[in-house]
Amino acid sequence: MICIRHKNYANLKTISYMKSFKMLTLSTAIFISLQSIAQQGDPKATEVWSPEPKLVTPAKDNKAPSDAIVLFDGSNLDEWVSVKDSSLPAQWTVSKGAFTVKKGTGNIQTRKSFTDYQLHLEWKIPEGIHGEGQGRGNSGLFLASTGGGDTGYELQILDCYNNKTYVNGQTGSIYKQATPLANACKKPGEWQTYDVIWTAPRFKEDGSLQSPAHITLIHNGVLLQNNTELKGATLYIGKPVYKKHGAAPIKLQDHGDKSEPISFRNIWIREL
Ligand code: MG
Repeated sequence: MICIRHKNYANLKTISYMKSFKMLTLSTAIFISLQSIAQQGDPKATEVWSPEPKLVTPAKDNKAPSDAIVLFDGSNLDEWVSVKDSSLPAQWTVSKGAFTVKKGTGNIQTRKSFTDYQLHLEWKIPEGIHGEGQGRGNSGLFLASTGGGDTGYELQILDCYNNKTYVNGQTGSIYKQATPLANACKKPGEWQTYDVIWTAPRFKEDGSLQSPAHITLIHNGVLLQNNTELKGATLYIGKPVYKKHGAAPIKLQDHGDKSEPISFRNIWIREL
């Protein structure tokens, strides 16, 4: 009887030791974890939960995301007017989901004005185009139209597939200001994409420059302008200069060369 009692006592003691050991192990683990947090800081301290970014539903095949303003959906030029007379609708030709420059009718621009934005635009040089240098498929995307004619900031559109010209006037250049990082032109007859991020310049009350314009351009998925700073409005002759302006329309160029006219489709913009 005494023996049994001793045996039970020994078992109880063993269990008690094991429990104590487990408690010690757990306490040590908690202590190490707390010490580690104390050493590294609380990860929650650097988490930001609000305000949440707005929800935007992306669309397939470069179509407009849910918060975009569609500037051309393939059906009409209702969002565009003539630059010569902004009370008149744009005179270019709409056909088969695209529109084509109608040479001699002049530049066209958006009805609305914009400041900072993300823009998607597709363009196509006609197959079998003739001409060379600046005289082959020349158009342009004026990122802000600050007056009539070619006034503003021109992002060049040109057929530079096996066609040499001055490099600060080739496809994807900020005309006569910034040479593109690459030539990513497709063959005439193929649709090409421009994806632009534009930060408009800001001006002080007295008209002097507060901050210059910047552009990022991706052409057919290739980076051509990487947050490039503009020196001013683009000019055919002379150095670029800034002149105070506010929100402005976006303009497309009817260039005076004799080559076959180029086409556009699927244009949308997201204001930033
Ligand atoms: Mg041009």
